[in-house]
Amino acid sequence: MTAQLIDGAAIAAEIRRQVAGGVARLRERGIVPGLAAILVGDNPASISYVSAKARASDEVGIRARTYHLPAETPQEELLALVDRLNADPEVHTILPQLPLPPHIDERAVLERILPAKDADGLHPWNLGKLLRGDLDGAIPCTPHGVQQLLLRTGNDPGGKHVVVVGRSTLVGRPLAVLLTNKAPGANATVTICHTGTPDLGLHTRQADILVVAAGRPRTITAEMVKPGAVVIDVGTNRVDDPSRKRGWRLVGDVDFEAVREVAGWITPVPGGVGPMTIAMLLVNTLRAAERVAGLPPSSFAPTP
Ligand code: NAP
Repeated sequence: MTAQLIDGAAIAAEIRRQVAGGVARLRERGIVPGLAAILVGDNPASISYVSAKARASDEVGIRARTYHLPAETPQEELLALVDRLNADPEVHTILPQLPLPPHIDERAVLERILPAKDADGLHPWNLGKLLRGDLDGAIPCTPHGVQQLLLRTGNDPGGKHVVVVGRSTLVGRPLAVLLTNKAPGANATVTICHTGTPDLGLHTRQADILVVAAGRPRTITAEMVKPGAVVIDVGTNRVDDPSRKRGWRLVGDVDFEAVREVAGWITPVPGGVGPMTIAMLLVNTLRAAERVAGLPPSSFAPTP
């Protein structure tokens, strides 16, 4: 069997078109959704993520501003910028690009952002709402993107066994919470694995849907996957590749070529989860602006 490819770029484009429609409706009322991205330092990957997010915002009519600060910016200065953006009515969401330099306490920065202006859905207030099954706040972008990939390929997680490899606050844990909600498009039975899991394959082989966010290439090999399973590879790892001009290429956490012969569906890296994360950031910004306008937030929920 060769797995069907899940085209994250195409699905993200579909969501961006929906966002553009919502933005156009707001603009008719004189409201321009605004995203403020904060980049601290010159990490090349962060620079390219922030410019991709700004480009994607422009394309759907969201006004993106980027604040590029030197790596040695004191934490107090960064917090003061967040305070100014919190008070700025043209800014609907604020996105500090992670990771921040080691002298800055990421949690302090994320918690300084008003929950209503949380672009990433990582503010404890919004994470708490997610835990309560209340989805009208900002939802963490990557988990939300994974859910949309499943739903828009007809792989509703309801009633399925989902195994998530990774327990980060960014991906693994919010995804597990999102998919265990008693709601359409969720309602899964979820197992979370991590480095303390003694026999990873024992669990992954039981997955109807396997989501891997470990940050390590080849964490999942073909014998760890149940035939026909849906495999979502969140990992983005740079590995040396002298055949490329830039000297590296991106790979996921899954041994793609071997696993695609076993799985029923699989995401590529790049072109799988990555574009979805950006699309869901745009969704959070649109919804934040709609709330300010007193409109009900646009629904990206599946039609059951
Ligand atoms: P993270 O904070 O480093 O967390 C990785 C998790 O994986 C940890 O919980 C770790 O367990 C677990 N893990 C690592 N190796 C494992 C193994 N061999 N077996 C079982 N569990 C293992 O990483 P993250 O922020 O969640 O990101 C994960 C990956 O996704 C990275 O490659 C990141 O670049 C990528 N990512 C991609 C997107 C996107 O848009 N495509 C978005 C976010 C992240 P412990 O907790 O026990 O250490």
